[in-house]
Amino acid sequence: MAPVESYAPRVALVTGAGQGIGRAIALRLADEGVDLALNDIPRNEEALKELAEELRKKGRRAVTLIADVSVEEEVKTMVEKAVEELGELNVMIANAGIAHVATVVDTTVEAWEHVFAVNVRGTMLCYKYAAGQMIKQGRGGRIIGASSVMGKKGCPMVSAYCASKFAVRGLTQSLACELAQHNITVNAYAPGVIITEMTRSPHDKDKAEGKHGDSTKALLGLPSHAPDAEPEVIASIVSYLVKPETYFITGQAISVDGGVYMS
Ligand code: NAP
Repeated sequence: MAPVESYAPRVALVTGAGQGIGRAIALRLADEGVDLALNDIPRNEEALKELAEELRKKGRRAVTLIADVSVEEEVKTMVEKAVEELGELNVMIANAGIAHVATVVDTTVEAWEHVFAVNVRGTMLCYKYAAGQMIKQGRGGRIIGASSVMGKKGCPMVSAYCASKFAVRGLTQSLACELAQHNITVNAYAPGVIITEMTRSPHDKDKAEGKHGDSTKALLGLPSHAPDAEPEVIASIVSYLVKPETYFITGQAISVDGGVYMS
């Protein structure tokens, strides 16, 4: 692999950008001069529009693309529209994901398949259509997915989620092998406990200390005082991974978890 002179992170597409980690990534990339295609599902359209407005005030171009990442036709159209509106696609952040809390014994096939549809099929479809576009452009690129500390370490009560995030790592490694010849790197972030809606649980307030993130920490076998962080810590690693100088980092799932999982 070699640095590609024509690669620059000019246009990025971020899925699940209406809140949490996706929103923080979009804001950070905009601050660094990247134009943004913002995706989420229909119920989050307002939040997405507000974010787009915020990015435009920063002087960036921003478009909102409502799509369910688990539906192939919608992902295909989403990528096509991003390119139509913003001219190209250099960075794909396949961030959208969902969790389901239940023991294996209580997990229904429907719940299992829903988690896999969004977290695994959704990530694969975003990778697939972004890769196709970047290969066509011939200028390299960056593809980044969302794994998790739970994609490195099994946990009780979240088997479908853990299995799906392990799968994201396998998918990321395979695509990294396939795309090296095109100077496109493929990596994932593997966050620990990040304070977003995903880690908010009504059970948190039942605990003695009762703070946001406690239930997720409990699943990881961690006490309430274990490290957690705001979504900006993930935006920070993404901001690094999209830079031209990172051309030699590929196939990795980079832990950003305060040291919860050490490989
Ligand atoms: P979040 O706050 O729940 O945000 C995820 C966004 O994706 C939400 O707006 C969600 O909409 C949207 N979404 C759900 N299904 C979608 C679909 N089919 N198509 C498009 N968008 C969809 O989650 P987050 O905490 O920011 O997490 C972002 C990613 O990081 C996820 O993949 C998550 O698994 C991963 N992660 C998070 C943590 C953490 O501690 N927060 C740790 C490890 C990994 P709704 O909310 O309306 O469903």
